[in-house]
Amino acid sequence: MTEIRHNWTKEEILAIYNKPMMTLLYEAATTHREHHDPNTVQVSTLLSIKTGGCPEDCGYCPQAARYHTDIEGNDLMSVQQVKAQALRAKASGSSRVCMGAAWRNVKDGPEFDNVLEMVRTINKLDMEVCCTLGMVTENQAERLAEAGLYAYNHNLDTSEDYYKDVISTRAFEDRLDTISNVRKTNVTVCSGGIIGMGEAVEDRAGMLAALAKLDPQPESTPINALVAVPGTPMEDIEPISIWEMIRMVATTRIVLPQTQVRLSAGRTEMSREGQAMCFFAGANSIFAGDKLLTTPNPDVNEDMKMFDLLGLTPQKPFVKKAQPESVEAVDSKFESLGEKPKWSRPGHKIERNEEAKLAGKALK
Ligand code: SF4
Repeated sequence: MTEIRHNWTKEEILAIYNKPMMTLLYEAATTHREHHDPNTVQVSTLLSIKTGGCPEDCGYCPQAARYHTDIEGNDLMSVQQVKAQALRAKASGSSRVCMGAAWRNVKDGPEFDNVLEMVRTINKLDMEVCCTLGMVTENQAERLAEAGLYAYNHNLDTSEDYYKDVISTRAFEDRLDTISNVRKTNVTVCSGGIIGMGEAVEDRAGMLAALAKLDPQPESTPINALVAVPGTPMEDIEPISIWEMIRMVATTRIVLPQTQVRLSAGRTEMSREGQAMCFFAGANSIFAGDKLLTTPNPDVNEDMKMFDLLGLTPQKPFVKKAQPESVEAVDSKFESLGEKPKWSRPGHKIERNEEAKLAGKALK
């Protein structure tokens, strides 16, 4: 059994990434089989419960209020709407619902109380519940755990070195702080990143080294390919090739042997053959549903046809960890403290983010 290492160097990871393709695939597939059933793939549904209007300046994101994109913003969905969508997702084979809100950080108050109720509701449907709500304090993470949250997503996005070329409104350190707050609870950690944002291959290795350093390593790791959305600072970046995706998936599998490696944004650009290579290289999770927050995603029926073709079976919920219990709001032992997570603002500006902001303002 491959050992779990937390001391991978960027150079070691780069050497894996650059191996001859057949050697890389063989080694990744071997590691994959040691830790996972290679014919089972987790299916998650990503639901945007609050869309657009985010104050952050992530250069890849159409939901940042400062950019001029065509997305339709929405206030927080109701618990009933979320329940209906979760039931639909369950009926089409998903075992997990991931709720995303375009917030900088969680704010204690009625909206967060509603999110907690959504967590309870989905957990009672016997599905794994994940949230991605921005930065959280330890107390907020505890409240999510108590409501029955299974996983919290907070991506590192890229390497620490390249981070400041993508986002100026927060620092890499802030991401690690939120992950550390989640780790103090029994909620599992989902953290990965995006490739194809103009970063060097060294940055991809740097991001994997940072993820591997986390102890324990994340239980799931989404690998996204940039979907360049018009109006964002990254609108002109050319898409990466499928071979880069396969290399990234295979390297992630070797460096993070136990994580569920999730094929995330960018799957519409991949052929079935390309996705099959990714599954062979160690991907064992996908996001299902026709949209990934705001960007397109393959139709779920097409995914199920692909599963049939490849002999893949959707993973059942709570295979890796027992279902958490949901404590009702009235029985909660945690108070709403009204606190905000602390975050450091690097105090620098990214030129292309500023240009996109000005262009957006001019259009508005
Ligand atoms: S990625 Fe998240 S934090 Fe960044 S702008 Fe988009 S919604 Fe906001």
